[in-house]
Amino acid sequence: MRITEASFLTSSANPKDCPAPNKPEYAFIGRSNVGKSSLLNMLCNRRKLAKISGTPGKTRLINHFLINNSWYMVDLPGYGYAKLSKSEREKFKKMIEGYLTERTNLSNLFVLVDSRHAPIQADLDFMQNMGVKGVPFAVVFTKTDKLKPAQLEENTAKYKERLLEDWEELPPIFLTSSTTRQGQDELLSYIEKINKN
Ligand code: GDP
Repeated sequence: MRITEASFLTSSANPKDCPAPNKPEYAFIGRSNVGKSSLLNMLCNRRKLAKISGTPGKTRLINHFLINNSWYMVDLPGYGYAKLSKSEREKFKKMIEGYLTERTNLSNLFVLVDSRHAPIQADLDFMQNMGVKGVPFAVVFTKTDKLKPAQLEENTAKYKERLLEDWEELPPIFLTSSTTRQGQDELLSYIEKINKN
């Protein structure tokens, strides 16, 4: 699949304000700076599409984009906001969880992790929780161009090892770089395959 049409649709503060669930939906989540906006732009072959969700006031909202007039791409706010108070963080976490568990048209969640870093427990806990709640997800390693092949292999192997402590089987895994466009075809083919089923 190639993305030929991509447009920003709306930002929602609450799952109930999201667009009618009448198209398959793919959500992307990760901590800030993981490369989420860059990845979304790369997938869409656009420079500034996902910029909008990074603008002040939008970072804690659920941002919907309409793709090829047939599916929704959703830019979710990151979990684990250091800047929020504990009670705010809990409220925010509940909002995201509410979206992820109640959104009837959610086909898949892509959890982004920086390929340069060792697994972060909060990311693993988040995936574990998604598994318990029955939310289908895939892991997307970002910024692969920043590593030498051997280092990338070592980091992803470590990550898989940690995942296998929680899971009997590995989730789908994608290696991506917004700089080299690695993973663009694989990720879009994956979405296309799910859309066809
Ligand atoms: P977000 O906060 O998750 O939306 O992250 P951004 O997409 O804004 O990226 C954070 C920083 O990482 C920016 O300086 C990007 O230019 C850089 N970055 C993102 N993706 C890549 C990538 O694939 N390769 C490289 N080399 N840099 C990247």
